[in-house]
Amino acid sequence: MSLKALKKQFAEEDAARKARAEGGAGGFVKVLRDYTLLAENNNVIRMRFAQEFDEDAKNANADRGFGVFFTEHATPYKPGAAFRTARCTKESEGNCYGCERYAVRDEESKGWRPFQRGYVNAIAETKNEDGETVYVPFVWAQKARADVISQLMSYAEDEDTITDVVFKYTKTGEKTDTKYLLVPTRADVTPFDPEGVELYDLEKVSPNIPYEKQAIFYAGGKIGGTESTESTATSKPAAAKPATDDEDW
Ligand SMILES: [Zn+2]
Repeated sequence: MSLKALKKQFAEEDAARKARAEGGAGGFVKVLRDYTLLAENNNVIRMRFAQEFDEDAKNANADRGFGVFFTEHATPYKPGAAFRTARCTKESEGNCYGCERYAVRDEESKGWRPFQRGYVNAIAETKNEDGETVYVPFVWAQKARADVISQLMSYAEDEDTITDVVFKYTKTGEKTDTKYLLVPTRADVTPFDPEGVELYDLEKVSPNIPYEKQAIFYAGGKIGGTESTESTATSKPAAAKPATDDEDW
């Protein structure tokens, strides 16, 4: 590891510690997510990424930060039960409730398999009530194995950037049939001013729950503090679909 890399690691660890301290027991904040914007816009939005995932991308901007992949667990889907996702803490804490459940190897355990999910700041172009174009910052997040990440990867390989273009982002189907499509539409014509755009701290977006509180959290309980625990989770009546309909359960 180089000194630069070590310095970066220290900075990331400090940021994560600070985020946990500021975020109360939950250590995460509620943000506008892509699935909410899609639901509000007939399942199709035009959007741009406000950050690169790759630090060596041609439009990489350290001030704006980068998209990030976190390893997470989610509660296996059961109608009426709480549905929650949180970061895997196996590496950071040495213990992880999700990993323990996954290791049981019973009927339900495979639903606890850890997976990676990418988070990145993005901007949607939508119309307000007067028909004027407005730019809405949001957090775009998808599982690493999702087709839509392959589509993004393919664009990044060709262009060495993901921030130079407006994408048409579409959702079709529901629940296990949900599909997302990310299609580049046009080069940037009159872009938003990225300097004026609010960026979310992605470290706080994926819930980072201390090990001793994970069982309660995944079961749908409140875990103290004043932070909302509803950002990626909610309990709903059996017929209702979960708040996080971005999951490919
Ligand atoms: Zn884990």
